[in-house]
Amino acid sequence: MTKQAYEKPTIIKHTGGLANKFGRGISRRTLSRIDGIPVTSLIEEHGSPLFVFSEHRIRQRYREAYRAFSLRYPKVQFSWSYKTNYLDAICRIYHDEGSWAEVVSEMEYEMARRLGIPGDKILFNGPYKPKPALARALDEGAKVHLDHYEELYQAEQIAKEHGKKYPVSIRVNMDTGIHPRWDRFGFNYDNGEALDAALRLHTGGHLYLDGLHCHIGTFILEPDAYRQAASKLAALAKEVRNKTGMPISYIDVGGGFASRSTLHEQYAPGTDSSPPIDDYAEAVTSALLEAGFGADEMPTLMLETGRALIDDAGFMLTRVVGNKRLADGRRAMVIDAGVNVLFTSFWYRHDVLPVIDRGGMLEETVVYGPLCMNIDIVRPSVHLPPLEVDDALVIRPVGAYNVTQWMQFIRLRPKVVLIGTEGQVDLIREAETVDTIKHLEKTPPRLSARSADE
Ligand SMILES: *Cc1c(COP(=O)(O)O)cnc(C)c1O
Repeated sequence: MTKQAYEKPTIIKHTGGLANKFGRGISRRTLSRIDGIPVTSLIEEHGSPLFVFSEHRIRQRYREAYRAFSLRYPKVQFSWSYKTNYLDAICRIYHDEGSWAEVVSEMEYEMARRLGIPGDKILFNGPYKPKPALARALDEGAKVHLDHYEELYQAEQIAKEHGKKYPVSIRVNMDTGIHPRWDRFGFNYDNGEALDAALRLHTGGHLYLDGLHCHIGTFILEPDAYRQAASKLAALAKEVRNKTGMPISYIDVGGGFASRSTLHEQYAPGTDSSPPIDDYAEAVTSALLEAGFGADEMPTLMLETGRALIDDAGFMLTRVVGNKRLADGRRAMVIDAGVNVLFTSFWYRHDVLPVIDRGGMLEETVVYGPLCMNIDIVRPSVHLPPLEVDDALVIRPVGAYNVTQWMQFIRLRPKVVLIGTEGQVDLIREAETVDTIKHLEKTPPRLSARSADE
């Protein structure tokens, strides 16, 4: 008979099935399969840590969202936000579903072009578009969203140099009741700057105003903020139409819808508290329908939603590498995935679910990553059963931003696999090697001549 590992006795308040202050009792949850594929076999084959994406979930969430908007409004176009996740295979799924590309840098612009997306299906956002990138985008017919006056001026110069008149759009920021207010991007609506920019652009004679754009923030839990944003953009569109005689062809309300993740400071889990996509759709489309556009001048509604579409399609598989007791008696655990690959742990209380539960008391546990860095905390506190070294865990939802914000600090980035809709498991990004990291470096010959042991 094997001896049981020692576990400190703990007292857990019995909630008798009633909700505690976090909205629910402490439950014992495990997750052993993703889309029917056993987590342990994924780790056996590909190692851990391992990012896993579900094609089924990606397509399902996209279709749900597209349907929510297109049921309520006649002309709808989604554009996939590259910075939320720009792995080629992932972008291709969205493009296959009919999504255009939304990019915020020349790097992302090039990524979209390489995937065969034509310029006129790329929305180019961001506060810095180097002149050659801006010139290329204008020439290729991209939907360029101007961020500030210098950029407007630069676009005009390019139009003059090329002897052409280009369509452009402006990014607009505004008060929608949301804090912090993102007023650093684009032209302000409330103080009249956005209207001035539109008129300035029109009278310059080298550009014409094609659309109006805003992106009010991220993980916005208040659908009404979008009603306000859409009404303000619609009012601006009508004002520009009255003053210049030119209708606007699209209104782009950006992204920022909350996924079902949970912020650290939220009580209830995101699965209960994040509004359904229909609520956002209702807010945006009713504002546009009520704005009083003529039937022939209804602008196309553009959306750039990122996290709400991808977050719960992404999972991190990881393993326990050590258990310990902290000096204050708390149970702690070290796992092989840290904030290097789970950057969103800083803001979100991700689910950390064991693959198997062998019983034993649930105990509040600090979950640390493998970095030699004090801030490498995946969950400051989560109730877990006793787990042994090598036991697997699943962390979710991690589909948004982690594979673009991940960093190469002391560890190599792991493999990424995609589970296809038929249950096939495909590698979509290889694990890094030391060569991946070192191949860009150059050592001056005077330093490479001698080896360390001479
Ligand atoms: C990041 C970003 C998005 C996507 O935001 P989510 O919060 O992921 O939906 C859309 N548009 C712009 C301009 C962005 O910068």
